[in-house]
Amino acid sequence: MAENNGSSCSHTGESNPEELDKAVQDCLRQIKHKLLVFSGKGGVGKSTVAVNLAKAFADTGAKVGLLDIDFHGPSVPVMLGLKGYQAIQGRDGILPYEEGNLKVMSIPFLVGQEDAAVIWRGPMKMHVIKQMLGYVSWGELDYLIIDSPPGTGDEPLSVCQTIEDADGAVVVTTPQDVAVADVRRSINFCEQLKLPVLGVIENMSGFVCPKCGEVVNIFKSGGGQEMCQQMEVKFLGSIPLDPQVVEMGDAGKVFSAEATSGPAQQAFAEIVQKLEL
Ligand code: ADP
Repeated sequence: MAENNGSSCSHTGESNPEELDKAVQDCLRQIKHKLLVFSGKGGVGKSTVAVNLAKAFADTGAKVGLLDIDFHGPSVPVMLGLKGYQAIQGRDGILPYEEGNLKVMSIPFLVGQEDAAVIWRGPMKMHVIKQMLGYVSWGELDYLIIDSPPGTGDEPLSVCQTIEDADGAVVVTTPQDVAVADVRRSINFCEQLKLPVLGVIENMSGFVCPKCGEVVNIFKSGGGQEMCQQMEVKFLGSIPLDPQVVEMGDAGKVFSAEATSGPAQQAFAEIVQKLEL
């Protein structure tokens, strides 16, 4: 765990709503780029994309924060081997988990993995999102990657309302989803909120053979790109179904040196290059 950087970004203790809003704004002002990672539904690899994008940005030497506010399935602690990790209070705020130039905050770091989905309900969630920005010592960052709740309901709406000056959203889909309304709904949702769509990532696109490394298209391919053309949004790229992604995620090693090679990792690095911020 790194030392608190003494930044004035965060605050301690309870405060009134105006103070909390000010703390959030003070925090956001120190972060150059804020990216929301969305998906039309759960299970398409939204958290996997958020974690790997954070890693790919950090690999460029940038200062990166990863904020996991997926209340229903906070999988970031598992993917990073941080299950059971409890955040502690620093001098100026709650300390995020820190590893090199990466900082991470996830709901279970504050309330435990089991309680995360149970405790925070309704309007409390908005409050918690704000606290995870305003009361956490993020300090100065080049990028904040936000793993948002799935769908287009109240929760992602709260996230957008809290982070008004976000650069935009990265929308994650799978090849099977592109024909259905989910992804389109996510894009329309962003448009209604005047949140730029930075692009669409097609995850689980093709299978990487663990024996020979060749990519086999199990589902159809090219559907994501086609949909992007129709909806006039940028196609950021495809991430193959890669056994290494599951292994590293389950073993909590997504940030480890072991997880730096392979077709999926390469695809994430290329996507980071394509993002126009
Ligand atoms: P979501 O956040 O959309 O619910 P997750 O990121 O938790 O989805 O991913 C669901 C499961 O799929 C996880 O076990 C994850 O390791 C696996 N997964 C995601 N993307 C890939 C991929 N490209 N290759 C292989 N497994 C993947």
